[in-house]
Amino acid sequence: MADERNNDIEETTIKGVNGPITGWLDGHTILVGLMAYPIRHTMSPTMHNNAFAKLGLNGAYLCFEIDNEKLPGAIDAIRTLDMRGSNVSMPNKKKVIPYLDKLDKTSQMCDAVNTIVNDHGVLTGYTTDGMGWLRSLNKDGQDVKGKVITLAGAGGAATPIAVTASLSGAKEIRIFNLNDDKWEQAVKNVDTINKETDCVATVHHLEDREDFKKSIAESDIYCDATSVGMNPLQDQTLVDDPSWFHEDMVVSDTVYAPRKTKLMEVAEKAGVKHIYNGIGMMIEQGAAAFKLWTGKEMPTDYIQEIMD
Ligand code: NAD
Repeated sequence: MADERNNDIEETTIKGVNGPITGWLDGHTILVGLMAYPIRHTMSPTMHNNAFAKLGLNGAYLCFEIDNEKLPGAIDAIRTLDMRGSNVSMPNKKKVIPYLDKLDKTSQMCDAVNTIVNDHGVLTGYTTDGMGWLRSLNKDGQDVKGKVITLAGAGGAATPIAVTASLSGAKEIRIFNLNDDKWEQAVKNVDTINKETDCVATVHHLEDREDFKKSIAESDIYCDATSVGMNPLQDQTLVDDPSWFHEDMVVSDTVYAPRKTKLMEVAEKAGVKHIYNGIGMMIEQGAAAFKLWTGKEMPTDYIQEIMD
């Protein structure tokens, strides 16, 4: 159950507003939301509101502290208030599905939704995290078509990455996970990908270090989508030996805080040319949602400058 929030309007520091706001936040403003709990740490409003302002679009993005209990009413409100849509995050990514009218293919395969689009009362669920990961690679000239990928993880970030890569022409995805509460999801992801796409997916135990090392050596792309590298595991990496990597591969870490993870340092030592943190994925998943709501490309270079 979400905490009761004081709904008094508090004083805050408003940066970048040097005069009266006109033509924005008026009677025509269209609302987009984010429904999650907890929510106060999110960077999404900064991203979307700056994109609206930069492009001169009369939209506003606001956060709503919504847990599973409040979810049905919140989804009703999307229709009632004629909102353009909403992002959805934990704990609502799976729970929201029964309240929607349609799901795109990626959401069906992930069994999760992070973006809702309201087309005149018809609510469609999308999952843009995997697309965000792919777009961030594409932006730097990298692609997954025909590639062999070793992917560590099977949680909320890894699942849409695996599904999107498989739908976007990856040749092979080898999913490594610990024998923990996400192992079952790893098995499910592999089954779904093999059933629904031409990509060959296999599931492996992360505890088998030799298998993991061999797989990375044979891969074009290594992606770590586990919690390792992020607080409180920021001093750890699943690969600590640079000799496991080869120069021409892509090494991608989904972590964006810190901006340079231990994994990235190891990849750098190995001379890997294409190394990415998760900031591109984070911005591009937002850009993919923004495109669904507005039909416009988010000015991502400008947004990245603001976020850095
Ligand atoms: P999750 O809890 O859904 O999944 C966690 C995954 O990490 C599971 O596969 C679990 O088995 C694995 N894991 C946990 N501890 C581990 C350990 N000690 N060793 C090996 N594996 C371990 O979490 P999530 O939402 O999928 O987040 C995973 C990572 O992705 C986090 O680092 C998060 O920062 C990042 N993330 C990035 C973005 C982005 O836009 N860049 C978005 C979401 C998540």
